[in-house]
Amino acid sequence: MNDCIFCKIVEGNAPSNKIYEDDNILAFLDVNPTVKGHALVIPKKHFETILDIDDETLKELIIVTKRVSKAIYDGLGLEGFSIGTNQFEIGGQVVPHLHIHIVPRNKEDGIENWPRKKYVSDDEKKEFQDKITRLLK
Ligand code: 5GP
Ligand code: ZN
Repeated sequence: MNDCIFCKIVEGNAPSNKIYEDDNILAFLDVNPTVKGHALVIPKKHFETILDIDDETLKELIIVTKRVSKAIYDGLGLEGFSIGTNQFEIGGQVVPHLHIHIVPRNKEDGIENWPRKKYVSDDEKKEFQDKITRLLK
């Protein structure tokens, strides 16, 4: 049995406020919005993270995210919004079914951007660059 809450929403076995649906993608309001109008865009098929989803469905997911973002931006008369996706528990992912957050932003929302640090040296920065780059060749 699949206990995934987002699969249950897809199957119609749990309630949601849907805002967009097609064959492969669903968007609905987050039940506990960071800012009212906060939406989630998900593939209907269960993938845990972005590392699992196939490229074709991922393309559809991001294209729908753009469409839904535009509707939220225009429909709510926003000046901005944030798009984000948490990956794995340590990355803040609570629901293990890939989802993209679209969060309306306004001047009074009190949301801070991610904190920023400094590399201790150019060598350290290069070390991180090399560790990643060698897997992309
Ligand atoms: P995560 O922390 O995994 O990136 O985000 C999960 C999001 O799913 C949270 O923002 C949470 O409010 C939302 N959420 C969890 N359960 C439900 C649910 O049953 N319905 C809806 N609409 N949103 C949910
Ligand atoms: Zn699922």
